[in-house]
Amino acid sequence: MPRMADKIEQPYLYRQHELVEPDWTRFSGWAGVTSEQWADVQWQRAHCVKNIKQLKELMGDLLTDAFYADLERDQAERATMSMLVTPQMMNTMVSELTWPDGVMPKAGADYTAAFYADPVRRYMLPVLSDRREQWSSHPYATRDSLHEHDMWATEGLTHRYPTKVLAELLPTCPQYCGHCTRMDLVGNSTPQVIKLKLAGKPMDRQEAMLGYIRNTPTVRDVVVSGGDVANMPWKNLEAFLDKVIEIPNIRDIRLATKALMGLPQHWLAPDTVAGVERVASKARQSGVGLAIHTHVNHAQSVTPLVADAAKAMLAAGVRDVRNQGVLMRGVNSSTQDLLDLCFALMDEASITPYYFYMCDMIPSAEHWRLSLAEAQALQHSLMGYLPGFATPRIVCDVPFVGKRWVHQVDTYDRERGISYWRKNYRTSIESEDVDVTSAEYVYYDPIYTLPDSGQQWWRDHGASADGGTAESLHEAAVAQAAKSRQASLDQIAP
Ligand code: SF4
Repeated sequence: MPRMADKIEQPYLYRQHELVEPDWTRFSGWAGVTSEQWADVQWQRAHCVKNIKQLKELMGDLLTDAFYADLERDQAERATMSMLVTPQMMNTMVSELTWPDGVMPKAGADYTAAFYADPVRRYMLPVLSDRREQWSSHPYATRDSLHEHDMWATEGLTHRYPTKVLAELLPTCPQYCGHCTRMDLVGNSTPQVIKLKLAGKPMDRQEAMLGYIRNTPTVRDVVVSGGDVANMPWKNLEAFLDKVIEIPNIRDIRLATKALMGLPQHWLAPDTVAGVERVASKARQSGVGLAIHTHVNHAQSVTPLVADAAKAMLAAGVRDVRNQGVLMRGVNSSTQDLLDLCFALMDEASITPYYFYMCDMIPSAEHWRLSLAEAQALQHSLMGYLPGFATPRIVCDVPFVGKRWVHQVDTYDRERGISYWRKNYRTSIESEDVDVTSAEYVYYDPIYTLPDSGQQWWRDHGASADGGTAESLHEAAVAQAAKSRQASLDQIAP
């Protein structure tokens, strides 16, 4: 009798997972915290972990002293962001849900090993031993790696694409991510990074932004960001949004808030929901699409409260809630991680997977960054599992260009890890710049991912080289940005 062939499994096996809120009373510091307290946004904000002392008080005997020493050294010697973790996010690290068979590791060495390996811990509480000893920063890593300030049309208003602008309304968030691309401006200063301060008063900056948007009819889309808009008093945010909606050229507004995941209690607060309803209603009547963009990096961050917050926003009239995650090694750098996250978002929380950004070239970030080739392989592996509208694009935010899908690369020197990209538009601040659409722009892989010959080339021709290919291209790109900045200043000047 012919034998049935063994069933061959798909590379990724889809399964539905019911969302569960991990039990916060497992932490000795929160053993007596009630569900009402947990659901209260003020309680959440007041109990964020901001320093090692507070982390110790929360964790009791779970972690070893060696872990705290590792964290302390990172804060002193490498961290580009200060520590700020909401209870909601702390609670998703090493829980009964993330551990095989629901059995928690024992306090001490076992728990510490699990904590080290936790994907949320890896980017919210980075430690020195996470970082690389060699090539820990790329030679061309910079504080404002996307050169957003170079493209400010007014203070905090980045005009990089022809039809859309990014309005950075405030420099704070309810939580600080170790890999933050706006580490130049966002958050408190750390021993390694003195943060820039916005010079203008908030109302003056907002009026200048609104003036620019009104006077630039080719702009139809405003990303309202920060920081995180969840840290802005709602009445101030609503007043700004009302004015944006009233600008005739505006057709889309996107609110950027990681807090939808990190502090869903904010977006579930009745006052906030009522405010979103008013703004969404006005937007709808004015023909403006209002959406929320959030930032979730791992499936274990998607809990019932996060799903409730997203659904509350949709019920309040927000057109879509979309996710823009950041692709990071050890956090979500496998097909399984990415698809598990996308399905959790889509199936259980009504959040549309949208983008995964490659981690940007900020200092000390090389351990998180993937090469372009790795990102391309991941993009290939995601295709076909999700509906087309919810298949996220993995994008490289190429300095001076903007988001490019990873397969859009023009040419790619894999040995040296240098990719070359082109731009198909010029922004209004580059209207005099006739070369912009024919120029090449560069992006760099982490050097430790290169073959030995490529690594040697960087030793020979790195940042200190005089005329190496990478440096001359890099210098050309910097000059390009300076030109854009000057054009911007000239345009703003009365
Ligand atoms: S929420 Fe966004 S802006 Fe705030 S620290 Fe995280 S990545 Fe940066």
